[in-house]
Amino acid sequence: MKFNAVYYEPESLTYALGKELKEQFSGLPWIPVDSHNSIKEMQEKPNSEFGHMKRNLIVGIRKTHKYVENHKVSDYLVPYTSSGCTAMCLYCYLVCNYNKCSYLRLFVNREQMLDRLIKQSKKSERLLTFEIGSNSDLVLENTITGNLMYTIPRFAEEGTGKLTFPTKFDMVQPLLKLPHKGKTIFRMSVNPQKLVSRVELGTSSLTKRIKAVNEMCEAGYPCGLLIAPVILTDGWKELYTELLEELEAGLTEKVKKQMFLEIILMTYSYIHRAINSEAFPNSPDLYSKDKMTGRGRGKYCYRAEVREEAESFLRSEIKRILGDVQILYIS
Ligand code: SF4
Repeated sequence: MKFNAVYYEPESLTYALGKELKEQFSGLPWIPVDSHNSIKEMQEKPNSEFGHMKRNLIVGIRKTHKYVENHKVSDYLVPYTSSGCTAMCLYCYLVCNYNKCSYLRLFVNREQMLDRLIKQSKKSERLLTFEIGSNSDLVLENTITGNLMYTIPRFAEEGTGKLTFPTKFDMVQPLLKLPHKGKTIFRMSVNPQKLVSRVELGTSSLTKRIKAVNEMCEAGYPCGLLIAPVILTDGWKELYTELLEELEAGLTEKVKKQMFLEIILMTYSYIHRAINSEAFPNSPDLYSKDKMTGRGRGKYCYRAEVREEAESFLRSEIKRILGDVQILYIS
């Protein structure tokens, strides 16, 4: 991965990971900033610079550690070792939080974050699952920091319950041999290849993602698939039928037997429209006046009747093509 510059909080260089990163990227300009959260120079850039801004790396210390309750695969969303991403999915949910500053930020205080997570996991009377990848893509991040190699074995040894994270990347090779004790649930996010190419810019291809989840399952990790976000673009029924057929053909029997599915319909926003139209003028417009409705704070989601149609279509196609696979939810 090529970066143009590193913006960093000077105190991060007192941490072991900060020192490692300084060495790894010693050939780049290192620009000190007061806070990873407000880099004025970045905030002032026009939306058209979005793609270029993603080529900067931000290094800082995570100060917010508030766990948010969740009721899907996990019990809590945990702010973990990164936020943002180098890829540029046109619908990326992080753009709602960080606007055009959704570049990759690495937080060097990983020991502190994992200590806290292990402590929390032991405190509870029932086994909890912690979502550590809701703010970034940890498989991508791991290629720079090695943080999953640090996290998975340590949690396996010292933690109680489970960790989980989703990804759209296939660089799982370094994870296959880790001693995970089945305590990390790996979730691969998939979409039809035509949408991956046009909308999920900078992520791994569908074929590679299928291979990666097969390998993770073979390595003993509990695995699931996210079909997310479902985008109801022209011809969506054919696209999603093709996707399900590719999954049926490409996933190993072992994955198919044990996997669960999560299905999330796309949410879009005014901010996405503004950034995408200026940064990627030739990209498809994901907004649909006919199919979408406002959802508060500048967000759009599919209308109730459109969602219902999509949900019943997907349920019946999944049943027809993949059989009785468990669908955890469609949201
Ligand atoms: S891979 Fe995930 S985090 Fe990265 S841009 Fe796409 S949706 Fe956002």
